[in-house]
Amino acid sequence: MGGRDYYPLTMDNNGCRRCLRGGSQINPYRITREPGWRGNNHFFSLWISDALFIKKETWKQYFEPLGIEAFPVLKGARGLSELQSVVQLKIDKVSDHPLDLESYEHHDMEYYEYSGMEDYGHLSMGYYEVCKKCSSKRYGWLRIGPFPNFKGDTDALIFKTQEYFGFGGASEKYIIIKPEIYRLLYENNLTKNLEFKVMGGGIRL
Ligand SMILES: [Zn+2]
Repeated sequence: MGGRDYYPLTMDNNGCRRCLRGGSQINPYRITREPGWRGNNHFFSLWISDALFIKKETWKQYFEPLGIEAFPVLKGARGLSELQSVVQLKIDKVSDHPLDLESYEHHDMEYYEYSGMEDYGHLSMGYYEVCKKCSSKRYGWLRIGPFPNFKGDTDALIFKTQEYFGFGGASEKYIIIKPEIYRLLYENNLTKNLEFKVMGGGIRL
């Protein structure tokens, strides 16, 4: 819970030890046993929700042919073997452009830097918070309305935002997919329990 244990095992040394932002994943995650899929094709961890775990067979059939790589997932705390039914999609591409957050109208909060944060895990009700150690920003989740656009296009089928979002111990980037990937998921019945948001346009989900 909160991610302190997994972090040094899975991430490189570029992250901030205070806010856990800024690092890149270099090693597989470890989970206790083969997941009980219950008709799903994927799952997220509660605290690491930008790591997308999917059925290995689904990855092999649909994602690997598109050149989308995957991390294995290791079994148990010591991670001595690879689980057979699950992989984690490797989404290491980050958007070439920032999100146009200035156009996001649904934050009913003041735009200010919350500089009094003493306690890691305490989130002010501000638009973003700033880590006192590394100066990285973390925004509140963009829950309402259409998702803001990027300030430019990124040539990748699946990638992540530059920006971090979250609350408490969880900092994550949104996963962005191009329409081709959405179509692939939709047409092959792989959308169960996934939540999609339309970017930029006027369609309200
Ligand atoms: Zn930091």
